Amino acid sequence: MEDFHEGILKKFQFLKGEIIFGQKGIKGKGKTERIPSDEFVSEPHILHDLIRGFYKPAGELYLLSYQATEADENYGKQIIWDNNGENFLKINMHPPRGEKDNRKISDIRAARYNLENDIPFGILYKIADSQNKVLGLGKIKSEEKNGVFVVEPFTIDTSFEKEIKSIEKRLTEEDINTNILREALFRRGQKQFRNKLIERDKACVLCGLNNKNFLIASHIKPWRFSKHKERIDYNNGILLCPNHDKLFDNGYISFTLNGKILISKKLSDDEKVNMGINEKMSIEIGKKATKYFEWHRNNYFKA
Ligand SMILES: [Zn+2]
Repeated sequence: MEDFHEGILKKFQFLKGEIIFGQKGIKGKGKTERIPSDEFVSEPHILHDLIRGFYKPAGELYLLSYQATEADENYGKQIIWDNNGENFLKINMHPPRGEKDNRKISDIRAARYNLENDIPFGILYKIADSQNKVLGLGKIKSEEKNGVFVVEPFTIDTSFEKEIKSIEKRLTEEDINTNILREALFRRGQKQFRNKLIERDKACVLCGLNNKNFLIASHIKPWRFSKHKERIDYNNGILLCPNHDKLFDNGYISFTLNGKILISKKLSDDEKVNMGINEKMSIEIGKKATKYFEWHRNNYFKA
């Protein structure tokens, strides 16, 4: 997903509960006006058609936002509210009904793309003409037989990102930029990264060692070469036991596109046995981790 679209999703989350009038807030109007930049969207962007049923940005496959209405001949009643009527518990998202509606096919395709790729989107609720309440983010959980997409609330976890941002900010303030502080803050960030990887992988991805005392969470593309975004991206993380971490971190092993192990010729047969690796090993590589493993293979692996 484009960076600025991710920013727009965070903006939806931030503005949850607010009512936007006309072009205020997150709506750009026309093909030339742009939504202003802010902490979520770093430069102005065109979002000319955000407030409508399904909004799919030009040239993208995904749905970025959805405008729900409760009673509309096209879309039907669709929102299940909580007791206070403040937040939605579920939304039945109907694609446009008319067979001749030429948006129908591309709308359905976009919704399926979000479903298959686990992509959240922003939700607006039309209160009246030019008045929309921001309902935050949702994710499609299923596509029903009658063509309805079932949407549940979703929240982007930004706690780790906030932590790293504050660490980076403090590191740039020269007067407190001592090595001790740098290390302490760095360790705090690393701890959170490690906890997340342990939760996800539960064991060394290569040999299955699962004693938490020994597991090491490393960046596939190392911290010092990574941009801010890559540092906080869990897809750039790998959980390994000490031996396998050392081999990976020093480029003695790497992985092919399909996750098959690559072993450096610099290792002798005895060393391979002692370090617990063999040519038959492989790991699973998620789609979003591909680019990091590719970087490791091209820049780090001691073929
Ligand atoms: Zn291992």
